[in-house]
Amino acid sequence: PEDRSPAADPVDTHCPYCSLQCGMTLRPVPQGAGPDGGPDGGPGSGPGGVEVLERTAFPVNRGALCGKGRTAPAVLSSRVRLTEPLVRRPDSGRLEPATWEEALDRIAESLAATGRAHGRDAVGVFGGGGLTNEKAYALGKFARVVLGTSQIDYNGRFCMSSAAAAHQRAFGLDRGLPFPLADVARTGCVILVGSNLAETMPPALRYLTELKESGGRLIVVDPRRTRTAEQADLHLAPRPGTDLALALGLLHLVVAEGRVDEEFVERRTSGWPEARAAAMAHWPELVERITGVPVPELRAAVAMFCDAENAMVLTARGPEQQSKGTDTVGAWINLCLATGRAGRPLSGYGCLTGQGNGQGGREHGQKADQLPGYRKLADPAARAHVAAVWGVEPDALPGPGRSAYELLDALGQDVRALLLMGSNPLVSAPRAAHVEARLRSLDFLAVADVVLSETAALADVVLPVAQWAEETGTMTNLEGRVILRRAALTPPPGVRTDLWVLGGLAARLGWEKGFPADAEEVFEELRRASAGGPADYSGITYRRIAEEDGVFWPCPESADGAGPHPGTPRLFLDRFATDDGRARFVPVGHRPAAEEPDAEYPVVLTTGRVLAQYQSGAQTRRVTELNEAAPAPYVQLHPLLAERLGADEGAPIAVVSRRGRAVAPARISRDIRPDTVFMPFHWAGPGRANTVTNPALDPVSRMPEFKVCAVRLEVAAEA
Ligand code: SF4
Repeated sequence: PEDRSPAADPVDTHCPYCSLQCGMTLRPVPQGAGPDGGPDGGPGSGPGGVEVLERTAFPVNRGALCGKGRTAPAVLSSRVRLTEPLVRRPDSGRLEPATWEEALDRIAESLAATGRAHGRDAVGVFGGGGLTNEKAYALGKFARVVLGTSQIDYNGRFCMSSAAAAHQRAFGLDRGLPFPLADVARTGCVILVGSNLAETMPPALRYLTELKESGGRLIVVDPRRTRTAEQADLHLAPRPGTDLALALGLLHLVVAEGRVDEEFVERRTSGWPEARAAAMAHWPELVERITGVPVPELRAAVAMFCDAENAMVLTARGPEQQSKGTDTVGAWINLCLATGRAGRPLSGYGCLTGQGNGQGGREHGQKADQLPGYRKLADPAARAHVAAVWGVEPDALPGPGRSAYELLDALGQDVRALLLMGSNPLVSAPRAAHVEARLRSLDFLAVADVVLSETAALADVVLPVAQWAEETGTMTNLEGRVILRRAALTPPPGVRTDLWVLGGLAARLGWEKGFPADAEEVFEELRRASAGGPADYSGITYRRIAEEDGVFWPCPESADGAGPHPGTPRLFLDRFATDDGRARFVPVGHRPAAEEPDAEYPVVLTTGRVLAQYQSGAQTRRVTELNEAAPAPYVQLHPLLAERLGADEGAPIAVVSRRGRAVAPARISRDIRPDTVFMPFHWAGPGRANTVTNPALDPVSRMPEFKVCAVRLEVAAEA
C-alpha cells in the first residue's frame, strides 16, 4: 500500500461524493473522536479519524457543504467497513477472511482460467464513476493490456452518457460544463432541465439564487415540483419522457416569433434547415398534447429565454436517462444554437454530471469505446499513440466492448468472470432483479469496495480498499476542472489501494512492465497517454493543481518555451471542436418512451435521488445522520391517484412493472403529476426501485431508460 503517515496538519481536499467535488479541509482527530460511524457500526474502529473544516478558498462551493460531505468521515471509521480480504470457502459457501496473497492469487487464477477456457472476452471489468482519474486509467489499461479483454465499461454509462453523446455530436467534444459553474450566476436566464440540484448538489443552488438576485430568470423543467422547481420563475411540468417534444415546441416558437439569431446560425453552425424543419413539425398545440404543458407556458418560456441577453440550458439525468436521451439533449442544444446561446461567454449548453468523477472516469479509458485522453478506441491513430505509451503493439489492443447494461446482461453467458471496482449494480442497474440473477450466474466474481455492498456480498473474493481520505488522486469535476484529493490518513492495516490491487494482479497475470501503485506516477503516465487527445491533460501536474486549486482541461504541455498553458475554463469561444469549427444542428423528432402507459400498466414511474443519500447508498446508508434523515424508500404520488387507489399516507404501495415489483410507503403530495409516481433508487430489498425500471437503451449512448417506465399500483399487504 501507499506508505503515507497520517498528516499532522489539516489537509485540503475534496468531498468523496458528487461531481461538484466540493473543497473541504480535513483535520486529523484522535481515534474515536470522529463522527458516528453508522447504524451498524460506531466510531473509532478505524485508524483514527478526521473532521471536516470549511474551505472557502475553493471557488466552486466556497466552503458550503451538504450533509453528505459534512458526514463523509463517518464511513472511514465505521465498524462495517471492510478491513481484510474475504474469500468464499467451498465447504461453507461463506465469505471468510483470507490473506491478501490468497485473495489476489485466487482472482488472478480465476481470471486467467476463464480466459483460457472461454477466450479473453469471457473476462469482464466493471468500473465506477467515483474512481479517481488514476484508477480509471489503470483499470482501462489493465483490462486491455493485461487481460486483453474488450469487455470493460463503468456505471458512468448510467450517469451522463446521453449528454456526452449529444455534446460530441453537436460540438465535437464532450465536457459536462464548457464554462465554470460560477458563470451560471452571471447569465440572464437558465433553463434547468431534469435536475433537482437543491437536493443532489445543494451548494450549487447559490448560483441560481445569485442569478435571480441580479435580475436573471430561472425556468425549471421537471414533472415534479421539487425544492429546485420551487425556486423557479416558471416551472414546466411535462409528462416524463416528453421533454424532447417540449424543446422542439420551444424551438418552433423561437422560429415563429422571429427570435432566431440568424447571424450566429449562419456564421457558426451547420445543419439548420433540417433542424428547423423538424421543429416546425412540432407546433405548440401538438406539443401541449404530448407534454401536458399549456401553450401559454411555452410562450412564456420562450419570452424569458430570448429576452435575456445571455442564456443557458443545463440538463441532468431527467432528459438524459431515456431511450431517446441523446436526441432529447440534442433538441435542447438545438434551442441554444438557434438563439445564438453557445460559443460565447455567459451563454451555452451544459450538463450537470452526477458522479464525482463521471467526467474523468470516461475520459481515461474505463468506457467500452474509449482510450485515455478521450480518444476513440476504434481510431487507428489513437490506438497507436496509447499503445506506444503502454509499450504494446496497437494490434494487441482489443476493440470496443459492450456498454454497461449489455455487459451486465451478458454475465454468466458470454462473460463468465468479472472484476468489479467502485460500483454496486445490484442496486443501481435497471431491471435489477435480472442483473442480480446474472451476477449470481457468473463462474467467478471479484469485488473491490470499502464496505460489503449488496453486490460484494455475492462475490467469490472481496478486496477491502482504501477510501477517499486515505489515498491521493485526481478527479475531474462537472466543469472539467481537474482537482487533487489528498491523503489525510493511513488506511487500516489490512486495507490496500485499488492501484496496488491492480499492480498485484498484473504481476500475477504475467505483466512485467510494472503497474505503479503511486498515484502521481500513474498520473504522469496518464499525461503522456492523453497528450494530443481531446481531453489533453499533458500540461497538468500535481504541483500545478495544488498551486492553482484545479486546472481545466484541455491543458496541453506548451512547446517551444511558450510557458505553461493556462488551461481552458471556457470552451468553443472561437470555434467548436468539429472538423469545420461549426456546431452541428441535428434534426430530431419526438418519439414515445420504450414503454408507454397502457390499460395494464397505466401510470408512469420516474426515479431519482434524495438529499441525504447518494447513488446506490453503499456509503451514505451507513452514516447515522443521513440514515435518520432518509431511512427508507417511498412512493410519491398525487392525492388523486392515492384516492383512486384507496391509499392513505404511509400505506404500503406496490409499484409493479413487467420486470418486477417494489414496495414502499405512500408519500402523498401535490408536487407530482397525477399520472406519475416517483421513487428514489438508493435502497436494496423490497423497496428497490430499479427492480421495476426499464433497461431499454438509447441507440447512441446506450443509456438505459431509468426515468420512464409503465407501472400499475397496488396497496400491498406490507411495505
Ligand atoms: Fe459532496 Fe456533492 Fe454535497 Fe458537495 S454537494 S458536499 S460534493 S455530496
